[in-house]
Amino acid sequence: MSPGLPWGRRYLMCPPTHFEVSYAINPWMDLSVPVDRERAQCQWDALVATLREAGAEIELLAPLPALPDLVFTANLGLVDGATFIPARMRHPERRPEPAHAEGWFRTHGFEIRRLGEDVVQEGAGDALPFGTTLVAGYRTRSSASAYVELARLVEGRILPVELLDERFYHVDIVFCPLDERTALVAPGALDADGARLLTALVPDPIMLTDDEAGAFCANSVVVGRTVVMPACSPRLRRELRARGLEPVVVDVSEFLKAGGGPRCLTLALDTRLGHEDAAAVAERHTAHNYHPLPVTITHAEGVWVHDDRGRRYLDALSAYSALNFGHRHPRLVAAARAQLDRVTLTSRAFSNDQLGPFARDLAALCGKDRVLPMNTGAEAVETAIKAARKWGYDVKGVRPDRATILVCENNFHGRTTTIVSFSDDPLARAGFGPFTPGFASVPFGDAEALAAALGEDGEVVGFLVEPVQGEAGVVVPPDGYLREARRLCSEHGVLLIADEIQSGLGRTGRTFACDHEGVVPDLYVLGKALGGGIVALSAVAGDDDVLGVFGPGSHGSTFGGNPLACAVGRAVLELLATGEPQANAARLGARLDAALDAAAPAELGEIRSRGLWFGLDLHPRARRGARAVCEELLAAGVLAKDTHERTIRLAPPLTLTTDEADWLLECLLAVLAAPERLRLAAPPRRPASFAA
Ligand code: PLP
Repeated sequence: MSPGLPWGRRYLMCPPTHFEVSYAINPWMDLSVPVDRERAQCQWDALVATLREAGAEIELLAPLPALPDLVFTANLGLVDGATFIPARMRHPERRPEPAHAEGWFRTHGFEIRRLGEDVVQEGAGDALPFGTTLVAGYRTRSSASAYVELARLVEGRILPVELLDERFYHVDIVFCPLDERTALVAPGALDADGARLLTALVPDPIMLTDDEAGAFCANSVVVGRTVVMPACSPRLRRELRARGLEPVVVDVSEFLKAGGGPRCLTLALDTRLGHEDAAAVAERHTAHNYHPLPVTITHAEGVWVHDDRGRRYLDALSAYSALNFGHRHPRLVAAARAQLDRVTLTSRAFSNDQLGPFARDLAALCGKDRVLPMNTGAEAVETAIKAARKWGYDVKGVRPDRATILVCENNFHGRTTTIVSFSDDPLARAGFGPFTPGFASVPFGDAEALAAALGEDGEVVGFLVEPVQGEAGVVVPPDGYLREARRLCSEHGVLLIADEIQSGLGRTGRTFACDHEGVVPDLYVLGKALGGGIVALSAVAGDDDVLGVFGPGSHGSTFGGNPLACAVGRAVLELLATGEPQANAARLGARLDAALDAAAPAELGEIRSRGLWFGLDLHPRARRGARAVCEELLAAGVLAKDTHERTIRLAPPLTLTTDEADWLLECLLAVLAAPERLRLAAPPRRPASFAA
């Protein structure tokens, strides 16, 4: 995986309210040439608008009188993840600026780390990351010794380059990383070693002519594939376009009077300085049983996640519905925190004070007598299989070892050896035999086939079904299917086992997907969202005649029913009791469904949905596969997941707002309509959560 760009799309900018040239600290400044402040404000506003249009998010720093150069925020310091390293300015006129910025960074949760007082380092304007290397300028402004110190504070390599030409006193006027492979380089302004090392570092450099360097072409801001520049020659435009980059020229002539271009006016936030790519480490040290999209998530809130490069995404997968209440829902986090301070694990060798109330409340939600808690979904499915078999022998009177469980074609119930035994997905099965016997398959959604299978075999003990098949691509059965399955199971004395691990707990707009047909199964199998996206918590819920078959020693799990999970599970049940997540899923699901239907993008074929859960089949003539579409959605700021090559699955948190739903739709339509070029509105700002 390529290291990618180490900066994001968030920038700190300071309005030019007090901008002027009142002192001369570089060869561009001339006290006899006045600054037109009104014009400067217009230029700055236009720059902000251009950056936003390209997809940037702009944070504002309050201007201060008597600090005209505060507008050049690139010099305020270095941002390394959640750390801010204030600059040490060479000229006394600028020394109060980093101290002012510190306040902003502190209130935004950054840790402050400092360089020694005897060095000069003029912030991100003089130290630009390229991959895991920090290209750092020194001589007229920053001191070489600053980088010896900086090496203690940041990981990765630092490549100091000597800036020989006094006109180019900061590295951001001679070097501009554009993407993982390309950068603008003004070699004439560098010492010979610096120029050689820099061009060796960048696989595909674009060398600037002296004229281009003098026009501050390297002082550009890159947002996605847009390069916001103070000037661009026809030659340079061609070079950029040949690399899929689009130059946009902005007039910053008032700021050039002080020696600053677009880059000087922006401080990239969420920058990572020289860290090894976390995804590459995971790739090296984990088994390759997944093929993740190229994004490394570092923190999240509500429906939004952030990656290690400062980009923000709307999570439209929700960990396959395990995050129905969004990331770190405040009430769930509070329940987990409170329980962390009390007791987290007892094993079932002892009782704990959370298990009983959790089991009572979950049984009540399901309308059942009792529950059996486990951890992962697959364990709950295994529990249901064991319950059905034992019920078959103990209650139904099936001959020993003859119990059969009917399952559906294209099912997905997990990954254990027994569960893959009744999967028909070759990828899930190949190489994992011998398989567990005792299962037979019927087509999903076909009540007649179910009736025939039940009529044939008197030793069927259970029918295990996903009310909506999730992994198969959000496949909704025909109306009446579940009702008929219920009737047939009752008629044949067979347990109806609903795997609601993905479909349950609000996802489809009702508490359970079975509710859409007024069906109550004999066993509910639950997982994923039950643990609130914080802990692994699953359960089977059933009546005494079924779950009563288990006695001490017949089944269990060390972590099953642990107090931490049960405390979070209780808070999840409280959220569901409000009915809000279900209602929102129904409302926004219908809104998205109607909008998708109306837009009918040519790239889409069948659209299936239930609540806030969508399976979007690509049209057979679509130019790309589902993985490629998901990669483009990723670039547009949306996390979604492909399934079976031609289907895109969407399952955003049920805490989604209308604005967020509309933005998601806009991204989706833009990607499906114009795969090659995206111009999207900035995402809505407010992270949402229910009943916080
Ligand atoms: N059952 C269904 C319907 C699922 O969708 C899944 C997971 O996607 C599982 C079972 C397995 O859950 P887990 O991955 O927690 O074992």
